[in-house]
Amino acid sequence: MSNNNIFNNIDLHSHSLFSDGVLSPSDVAKRAKSHHVTMWALSDHDCVDGLAEAQQAAENFAIGKFVPGVEISIEWNDVAIHIVGLNIDYQNETLKNGVKSIRDGRFARAERMSKELEKVGIHGVLDGALKLCKNPNQISRAHFARFMVSQGVAKTTSQIFENYLVPGKPGYVDHKWASLEDSINWIHNAGGLAVLAHPGRYKVSGTAILRLCADFKDLGGDAIEAGSGSHSNEQIRSYTTLANYLGLAVSCGSDFHSPKESKVDIGNAPKIPPELKHQGIWEKLL
Ligand code: AMP
Ligand code: MN
Ligand code: MN
Ligand code: MN
Repeated sequence: MSNNNIFNNIDLHSHSLFSDGVLSPSDVAKRAKSHHVTMWALSDHDCVDGLAEAQQAAENFAIGKFVPGVEISIEWNDVAIHIVGLNIDYQNETLKNGVKSIRDGRFARAERMSKELEKVGIHGVLDGALKLCKNPNQISRAHFARFMVSQGVAKTTSQIFENYLVPGKPGYVDHKWASLEDSINWIHNAGGLAVLAHPGRYKVSGTAILRLCADFKDLGGDAIEAGSGSHSNEQIRSYTTLANYLGLAVSCGSDFHSPKESKVDIGNAPKIPPELKHQGIWEKLL
């Protein structure tokens, strides 16, 4: 496959059941192939354990280029932020130990979330969420939301988040995540490139986002995920412009989790308009 074809349909952000997605890495690969993805990254939250299976499946399905990825949960000025690592060596001990250190607290957080939800009359959520989760240490708010939808607490996972699982709501519990600096260093230590994920999703002011992007650049970050399943066309344009201004590359990905839930399916990641001069991170992934 020539480079030109490899860049036809790029999706550098997706999840499997190794974190809070619902498909196995092989099934994500199969879906990516059927949606004509030519360059694909699996980027599970705080976990690299699905990447060997994903890499093999990408080869079996003849996806042009597989990019091993990870999405690291961090906190920056008390806001929860995600940093995607691309082209990482997933055997790298620094990275593996780093993501394990944040993953290990997830179960205790889930126990506390469940206790808080009991107080507002919602029972048995921990046990229910655990049944939807491959590994108890990987338990996420998404598993809580899915279980609560199955119990009829609300119709959609988004409604569950809005009413129960975000700061200020009854089931929200703080968690100690990595620092911005640690996440970038772990990714670089593993030979990867660091991408600020879906900046349009963070519920902070425009000035705070500018400061976040500037801090990210100062600490050695590589790219901004301007093309995201969570972004409007307007946001894609403004984050591409910001990346250009800061001298950062741009990335793009669907953030696919589930055929039923995800706003944008795998392979349907919004494109960066070619008329905006930019450097795609994909050029550096070959
Ligand atoms: P956690 O890592 O446990 O804090 O869970 C975060 C995950 O929950 C994200 O990666 C998304 O997959 C999902 N999520 C966060 N906010 C929402 C939302 N408003 N609606 C649906 N899913 C969400
Ligand atoms: Mn997720
Ligand atoms: Mn994310
Ligand atoms: Mn994600």
